[in-house]
Order: sequence, then structure tokens, then C-alpha cells
Amino acid sequence: MGKKDRRNAAPALAFVTLRDLPGTRVLFWVVDSCPYCGERHLHVAGNMRSAEADPGETLGEHPAPCDPTRPYVLSLPPRPKKKRGKQERRRERHAARFGSADLDADLGWDGGEPDDE
Ligand SMILES: [Zn+2]
Repeated sequence: MGKKDRRNAAPALAFVTLRDLPGTRVLFWVVDSCPYCGERHLHVAGNMRSAEADPGETLGEHPAPCDPTRPYVLSLPPRPKKKRGKQERRRERHAARFGSADLDADLGWDGGEPDDE
């Protein structure tokens, strides 16, 4: 039949910041301002223990916790708020043991399709 109720509208973008929970090795994506409710949401991004895990891989479409019928796309903001030198960032990355040299490339993703190699 000609029913086309299903809309494939692009989900809203939710900009995230990567945080770790003090005392644990769990990484979170923090949505500071949900595109739907304006509240803060947390998504588990990974675990620092698993050096193989790339937090960037957990970005992408997720159901919004406030309304699971409306997905949003976890994505990194185009620019970090803090001004930081490249060396400092590298040191911080080391400390966090991301173990992924590709993270910078992932950080540059601004809403398009994730670049899966
Ligand atoms: Zn929300």
C-alpha cells in the first residue's frame, strides 16, 4: 500500500565531551545539552582498561535517554572550548591511555558519516 508514515528524518546532533569517572576507568560521553530536553545525559564510552577500545567508536546514533523513540547522534563539537597546545593534548591522551592514534581524526568528525576504514 502507499503508506509512508515512516519518516527518515535525520536525528538531531548532540555534542558530547569525553569524561572519565573519578576513581574508575570508565569513560563517558557527556551530552551537556540534549537537543530534545536540554538536560544533561551520559553515555558509557568505554573502559580505559581495554586499551583496544576507541571511545570514538561509541559515537553515533543513540536513543535519547529522555525519549527512546527519538534518537540523536553523539558527535564531538567542532572545536574544543579550551585552548590547548598540541603537545599538552598528546600528553593528556597518553595519560588517559586511549591507545589510539586515530582519535584526532575521529575528533574531527563533524556530523557526517563516521569514517570507517
Ligand atoms: Zn534529553
